[in-house]
Amino acid sequence: MTTPALQIVKALNFAAQKHTDQRRKGERAEPYVNHLTEVAELLATHTGGTNTDVILAGILHDTVEDTKTTRDELVREFGENIADIVMECTDDKSLPKAERKRLQVENAPHKSDDAKMVKMADKISNLRAILLSPPPDWELSRKQEYFDWAKKVVDGCRGVNAGLEKEFDKTYARGVKTFGMKAA
Ligand code: ZN
Repeated sequence: MTTPALQIVKALNFAAQKHTDQRRKGERAEPYVNHLTEVAELLATHTGGTNTDVILAGILHDTVEDTKTTRDELVREFGENIADIVMECTDDKSLPKAERKRLQVENAPHKSDDAKMVKMADKISNLRAILLSPPPDWELSRKQEYFDWAKKVVDGCRGVNAGLEKEFDKTYARGVKTFGMKAA
């Protein structure tokens, strides 16, 4: 027998182990797991804690893309549905970066509701990270580019969770103000 609490703790431990050697790109080089707990917290808050699967997928969303985790492993540990949501949020790393970014924008509207929520929470966390701990080698134009690309992805995810949309818009607006960017 499993429970939401057991599954969430198991996913946190799984993701922490998988991402052990990774750090965020910002000047503080935060442990990667901070990003995952932030995404999980955003998803839990904005679904009122009622959607365990979306929280689990949020915790695990970067395991296949950024570690050696396979889809089969996720199926074994967490079941088909969680594995499917994670795969929907996983870029094909055999493609060049620009193409992957273009595909994220193009494919966002066709994702499942759960995957759309994970993608929005992921982008909120990434924008917050750039605001609080910008990568040292990122000029304003690079930040602007990232903010605008993230907004295009989130625009394709709208309609499934008003709270996450609002939080994204607030974070985007803070970036415009903080960095003196042009609003897209
Ligand atoms: Zn992520």
